[in-house]
Formats: sequence, C-alpha cells, structure tokens
Amino acid sequence: MKFKSIRGTKDVLPGEVEDWQYVEKTIRHVMSIFNYREIRTPVFEQTGLFARSIGELTDIVSKEMYTFKDRSDESLTLRPEGTASALRAYIQHNVGEQSPLTKLYYMGPMFRQERPQAGRLRQFHQFGVEAIGSSSPQLDVEMMLIALRIYRELGIQEFTLKVNSVGCERCRPPYKRLLIGALRGVRHQLSPESQARVDQNPLRVIDSKDENDQALIRDVPLMKDHLCPECNIHFGEVQTLLHGTGTPFVVDGRLVRGLDYYTKTAFEITSSALGSQDALAGGGRYDLLVEELGGKPTPGVGFAAGIERLLMVLGKVGTPRRVDFRPVLFIVTIDDEARRWAFAKTHELRLKGVRVEIDYLGRSVKAQMREANRQEALYTVVIGETELLSRSGRLKNMQTGGETAVNLDEIESAIQS
Ligand code: AMP
Repeated sequence: MKFKSIRGTKDVLPGEVEDWQYVEKTIRHVMSIFNYREIRTPVFEQTGLFARSIGELTDIVSKEMYTFKDRSDESLTLRPEGTASALRAYIQHNVGEQSPLTKLYYMGPMFRQERPQAGRLRQFHQFGVEAIGSSSPQLDVEMMLIALRIYRELGIQEFTLKVNSVGCERCRPPYKRLLIGALRGVRHQLSPESQARVDQNPLRVIDSKDENDQALIRDVPLMKDHLCPECNIHFGEVQTLLHGTGTPFVVDGRLVRGLDYYTKTAFEITSSALGSQDALAGGGRYDLLVEELGGKPTPGVGFAAGIERLLMVLGKVGTPRRVDFRPVLFIVTIDDEARRWAFAKTHELRLKGVRVEIDYLGRSVKAQMREANRQEALYTVVIGETELLSRSGRLKNMQTGGETAVNLDEIESAIQS
C-alpha cells in the first residue's frame, strides 16, 4: 500500500465512530446540565502561547510539541492541550467583560510527539472544561463532579479521584527550596531522568514512575504539608465540599501535574481498567494564567480528559449505547422500474425522517437481502412488476422473519407500528 496513517494517529471507522458519537452526545448533555458553553479554537497557535502557559521546562514544551515554521517564517505549534487556546480566545475577545464568570468547554484533537504505546497517541482527543473568573473552591469541586458525572452517565463505575494542592506563588518557592535540599541528598542514586529534574523541575521528581526513585524519596517533604494559610483553607474547603456531595476521593500528596500553570488544587481521575497509562482526566486551578497570558488578573480552574482512554475503559466495562444507524426499511428491487419507484419512495420517506436504504449496485434480490441483513435493517420489502401493479407487497420483519401484506402507499405507518 502506498500511503499509511502516521504512527500514533488513528482512523475511526464506521462501527467504532458510533461509540464516539454517543460519548460526545453524553458530554454535551452533561455540559448543558452544568451550564457550560462550547468554545472552538483553531488547532494551531503561535508557539509562544504554549511555551508561556504550559512552561518551557515541562515535557510537553521541551520534547513533545509539533512545532514548525510556516512560509512566513512564523513559529507555529499544533495545540498539545486546550486550556492555553481557550484562555487566549477569552482574553482576545474580552469575554470576561460580558460576565464575571465564564463557563466553557471544548472537544477536539490534541497533538503531542510522545512515544506511541497503549493509551498514548500522537493525535488524541480531549474534552475539557474551564471556569474563568472565580476563586471559589466550589468550582474546583464542580470540575471533579462534571468529570465523574460523565463517566457515571456512560456506565463507568470504577475510578479513583485523587486530589492534592500544589500551593501558590507564595508557598511554592520556599517549599521548592526545601524539596531541592532533600533531593540533593539522594540525587546520585536517582534515575537519570529524575536527576536532571532536581534543580529545574523538582516537583516532577515526586511523581517519578521509577520504583527505585520512589523508595529513595519516600520521606521527602510534600507540598500539602507546607501550604500557606490561604492555600490550606482552600484545600480544606475542597475536601469539605467533596464530602458534602458524597464523592469518594483520596488525598494524594504525590500528585503533581505535568503542566506548570497549576496553583492550589490539582486533581486526577484514574481507572484500574487502564494499564500503566491509567489517567482518565486531570486538572486543577490556574489563578495566575490569565494574567501570564496578558489578560487582567483572573482566577480560573479546569480539567481535560482523554476520549480514547475513556473509550478504552468503556470497551472493558461493556458495550456503550450507540447512536442507531440501522435502516428501518431496506427496499429490495427486482427491475429498473422498481428501482425508479424505490428511489422516489426513499426520497419521500427520508423527507419524513425515516431511515431507508436501497440498492445502488444492481444486485440480485438474494444479494440485496444479504446486504439488508448485514446492515441490520429492521424491515425489508421486495418490489417488482407484480408489486407495482397491485400497489402491495410483503413486508418482512427481519428480526422475527414474519411477513405481512402491506399497501405500498401505507408503508410508513406499517413500519412504525
Ligand atoms: P493532560 O493534558 O496531560 O493533563 O492530559 C489529560 C488527559 O488527556 C489524560 O488524563 C489522558 O486521558 C489524556 N491524554 C494525555 N496525553 C495523551 C496521549 N498522548 N494519548 C492519549 N491520551 C492522552
């Protein structure tokens, strides 16, 4: 074969796409219940937007972005995540002036040049939610409730909600110094990846996947134990609100997200149905980000969730309910005259919203019946000279095999009864 899709990308073919549509429909439904409006931004942006918001030293910016120069020599990047673009649009269009609190969601492809493996793609899809304009911990918890509601609505029961606080610009710097001091003691025994992070991005050492690293850093100080009073109160309130809504969660002091812009709350939802890449969703508060991107100081909170991972979990816990594409009626035709009649009839029924299919390939009656079966049509009717003359035919219920006489002018009511 001449051309193939690029490694780490995936085609979604009919048969699977119905699951996607069902998931997308459920997401939109839940977003409307929580009163969030959709935003659609371009898939590429100025490179600086992501470097500035996600952080130069993060894995995403330093190793994974699809960055290229266009013909005018401008550096552009395929978006690796959705928050930066949503906030760029929010600032650019003065959205905050219309209302002090803006509730947005998005869905679409994201691009990261990661090593492809199960659950890790280079073009993957996320849905994400942002609440911009309030520092209330209620919105931190609302983010978690939205994600969990979507999973529950889809029948996913097994997941773990992990919450942490990553502090703020006041308490994080002194904590970082404390942590670097503690890490320097074991530095030379750490994995090469963690060693490189000790000075530049010490928080990421804490969530190292290396078992030896974890043993070495078991007793290092954690941010949640060194929060300033404001962050501490905020974190306490998040937990109180979670308890108040009866939402099970665990406090995970080692939860550090891979993006620099988080302040105070960070959370992750994981599923045991996934392998080593077990994160379904992650998010947190980003009170400094709007200002960092050139807007007025405005607090915000959000999360993003992977759609492929969600579908992987769905595939394991049971068949999702699908958008129904099965034809209600397949009109099987014997000769040209019947084909002409069927074409007009199909047009008439489709105008009324009935899912009808016909044969376009001049196949035999037997082959058309096989096709109707393959498409799981609910009813078939065979039309030839006799049927057209008598204006009647035999309507076959494909599930029971039973046949009934039908007046050709009353097919519609017959298939709907
Ligand atoms: P992040 O933007 O890194 O916080 O990721 C949020 C969610 O997106 C993760 O929890 C995953 O479900 C999903 N995700 C992130 N990276 C990938 C990837 N390379 N392939 C598939 N899903 C991903």
